[in-house]
Amino acid sequence: MQTLKNFINGQFTDPLSKRWLDVENPARGRIYAQCPNSDAADISLAVEAARRSFPAWKALGEDKRAAYLLKVADILEKRMDEFAEAESRDQGKPVSLARSMDISRATANFRFFATRLQHTEEKAFKSSEHVLHYTERSPLGVVGLITPWNLPLYLLTWKIAPAIAFGNTVVCKPSEITPLTAFMLCDVLNEAGLPPGVVNMVFGDGPSAGQALVEHKNVRAISFTGGTKTGAHLATTAAPLFKKLSLELGGKNPNIIFEDADLATAVQVSVRSSFLNQGEICLCGSRIYVQKSVYEKFLEGFVEQTKKFKVGDPSHSETRMGALVSASHLAKVDSYVKLAVADGGRILCGGKRARLEGECAHGYFYEPTILVNVPHHSRAIQEEIFGPVVTVTPFETEAEAIALANEPEYGLSASLWTENLSRAHRVARAVEAGIVWVNGWLLRDLRVPFGGMKASGLGREGGDWSHEFYTETKDICIQLRHS
Ligand code: NAD
Repeated sequence: MQTLKNFINGQFTDPLSKRWLDVENPARGRIYAQCPNSDAADISLAVEAARRSFPAWKALGEDKRAAYLLKVADILEKRMDEFAEAESRDQGKPVSLARSMDISRATANFRFFATRLQHTEEKAFKSSEHVLHYTERSPLGVVGLITPWNLPLYLLTWKIAPAIAFGNTVVCKPSEITPLTAFMLCDVLNEAGLPPGVVNMVFGDGPSAGQALVEHKNVRAISFTGGTKTGAHLATTAAPLFKKLSLELGGKNPNIIFEDADLATAVQVSVRSSFLNQGEICLCGSRIYVQKSVYEKFLEGFVEQTKKFKVGDPSHSETRMGALVSASHLAKVDSYVKLAVADGGRILCGGKRARLEGECAHGYFYEPTILVNVPHHSRAIQEEIFGPVVTVTPFETEAEAIALANEPEYGLSASLWTENLSRAHRVARAVEAGIVWVNGWLLRDLRVPFGGMKASGLGREGGDWSHEFYTETKDICIQLRHS
């Protein structure tokens, strides 16, 4: 049994709370580690360490901070296989996916913000010949970073890298369900020689550790990725304390396929956008809308290819879909499928727990599931399931597709499939989503704004937007001498 520890001021320590949580391998249905369930006292220690290290880290300057980030990326890359295996064990996803997506992206996050840091610019305004304004961005101080379980290291480093690159120090509260790679990252940070206290990791659940971090008076900003309900709760705590807040929340993303689409590609990509990472990606396209004239043809190909999307042991190279993250999440996913059927929906494939043999006999596997005939008001269409379940709904006109796409409270991402350029522009503009892909899915570029509309979040991160979030802007105005 592995025992994880908090990482405060460069030291691994037991929680002051003396409380621990079980950590499970969801593909085996077996507890394999314990992680701290920290409380406000542990958070206070970490915030104090971050506060002490802030002035020197800020003063270090951009080049030296960038060098640390690049070193972290190099070490992570060298330990790629070890991290991928750990992420898979902790989260349930295929090892191959953890390598190609999660850990590769974690490495890229450090590299990107190390170099992005060296391309920052300020603005200047000349009010008159004798009055010059210029902006100066400075780091905020201690920033709190709270992350979910679906892309554990990927999302954690998406926050750590920009926060420390721009000169802040951080206290992280990773998901208590998937703490392993966050714990391993601390070792990498020490190996890279990062000064103690720049990154602190405090493990624990939301109500004790997370809440204490949001409430702490010396934490200047919170960057949160997680569920919409948790985000709303966080906002009520953080807003009266005037903390900067970035909220990356849930999604229920539409995938709209018009009759003029390249159908073969739309089918192939829709299988990935529905079921990659067991459907546990906030950007998964869980509501598919297909124009009536190609509805049957799409369904035929989609069902056929979904049946080939192999559920299996995450450590096997041919596995495309691993285990859901926990027994309770599996029960939640299954309950939505039952609800859809009770509302009149029909299962075209999947719809039940997948039973594996051998080592994975007790794992939380679920078959990739396609539902049709689900009424649009059903909670299975309106609410986020966050699992390998998609609904497919026909539409007749462009206006109808837009109305259906915009109906749920979410607005994170959307995919459109059409060969008509004017339609692509028109619909992309009309769909309420922070990210719209045309003829593709999950094409990410770390420079572009990332975030959601409506109940999918508040603010944007990535490139300039992360710079904006993790810094404070000052206007400095100089009255120049006349002679
Ligand atoms: P969650 O909201 O339950 O937990 C997220 C994090 O918040 C965890 O670390 C948790 O411990 C912490 N937390 C819980 N209560 C808290 C509180 N009162 N104060 C402070 N912290 C608290 O979400 P989850 O189940 O871990 O993750 C799944 C959700 O995340 C889905 O809704 C998914 O769409 C969303 N998500 C969004 C994005 C995005 O970029 N928009 C990316 C990934 C996941």
